[in-house]
Amino acid sequence: MLNNHYALRYITLILWLLIGVTSIGMAAESWRAGVARTKITPNGPYWMGGYASRTRPSEGTLQDLYAKAIAIDDTDGSRVVIVTSDLLVINRELGEAVKQRVFEKYKLPASRLLLNCSHTHCGPELRLYRESLHNIPPEFARRMHEYVKRLENQLVDLVGKAIATQVPARLDFSQQKASFAVNRRNNRAADVSRLRKEGKLIGPVDHSVPVLKVADRKGRMLAILFGYACHNTVMSFYQTSGDYAGFAQQYIEEKHPETIAMFVMGAGGDQNPLPRREVKYLHEHGRALADAVEAALAGKQRSVTGSLRTALAKAPLEFQPHADRETLEKQAKSTNKYERWKANYLLGELNAGRTVSRKYGLPVQAIRFGDDLLLVAIGGECVVDYSLRTKTQYSSADGPAIWVAGYSNDVFGYLPTLRVLKEGGYEGGGHMVYTKFPGPFTKTVEKRVFETIERLVEEVK
Ligand SMILES: [Zn+2]
Repeated sequence: MLNNHYALRYITLILWLLIGVTSIGMAAESWRAGVARTKITPNGPYWMGGYASRTRPSEGTLQDLYAKAIAIDDTDGSRVVIVTSDLLVINRELGEAVKQRVFEKYKLPASRLLLNCSHTHCGPELRLYRESLHNIPPEFARRMHEYVKRLENQLVDLVGKAIATQVPARLDFSQQKASFAVNRRNNRAADVSRLRKEGKLIGPVDHSVPVLKVADRKGRMLAILFGYACHNTVMSFYQTSGDYAGFAQQYIEEKHPETIAMFVMGAGGDQNPLPRREVKYLHEHGRALADAVEAALAGKQRSVTGSLRTALAKAPLEFQPHADRETLEKQAKSTNKYERWKANYLLGELNAGRTVSRKYGLPVQAIRFGDDLLLVAIGGECVVDYSLRTKTQYSSADGPAIWVAGYSNDVFGYLPTLRVLKEGGYEGGGHMVYTKFPGPFTKTVEKRVFETIERLVEEVK
């Protein structure tokens, strides 16, 4: 009787251990993942986006541009697709058109598709309304329209290809740091090298480099997703390139030829890669970021397990009203061509009896990978405070790692926090002159964004 009792206990223990080991093994490889890439370099000379001061079309290619996608399913078949791209913006028109067609074609709802762009300023202009703002010659305006249509098709196809190539996979998360991002509102570019040496750079920054490694059953890396919160603006020349993020991706892919490296732009609205404006800095910063990714891959990894949950909503933002007619009529005669353009646009709306909407729905998305990773993706050129505050609010010792992406789903312009709005300057409201929006955001902007983030984080818990 006693022997039987012990035998039973041993058998139970062995069974329990077996189940335990199997479930750990399954948990680590409980995902399915597929990746795809497509070249999106425009054919021939094109009008470049990113600097209003551009006066002529592109002149050759230093580096090709790519869009890349990863489709990840959990064991229940819940799916998310993340698309990254060497593009200045994914604006509302493009983002919504792609999401609509992806839903029709692959039954993937908008909340399960994240469209992020690297914000390279050495790629094509995609915002059709900028034709009049930048006086884009008709030939290049026509090419811009054609490019945007083709790009939309390419992005839709890309999502399908990623879904079609899924294999069993495991996910691991780790983080490192890179320090070339500088708060551009608080430090003069010319002083940066000296200030850095003296340890006197000021202003908020987020130097973290989150890395998600996606590998197949044999341990072969399918994709490396990595992020950084910094404007992708080393160069302002007329050659095509993915800028520092393009070179970081290139360096990682050279080291791991079977892998797709995917750059996810963070909340870098007020951050610049400094020093800059020389090709050597493209390589230097690209290398620094790639090295941080390698260090993260070599370091301690957090195995990502569990189920996938996603949520998407629009934060109801408001703009301040535009100037009255009398002021607009004065501005229409300004020596500043951008002020003239904006005033004429607004006067045109008034004359046509239309009111310029003061509301804007900013897409915010939350993607939760089990208990281990929470990705919050915010639209617009969000300033770094959004990243820092989200991490402060949600980081905990036993909670998921927090990854904040900016420049996601709808890059309409800058998204200031209350602090930046009050301080003013370019990101606070100055940039509005390049948009069709009436005035800067109202003081509710940060509060509205965080109310939405809080709701979504709760939803994906
Ligand atoms: Zn920008």
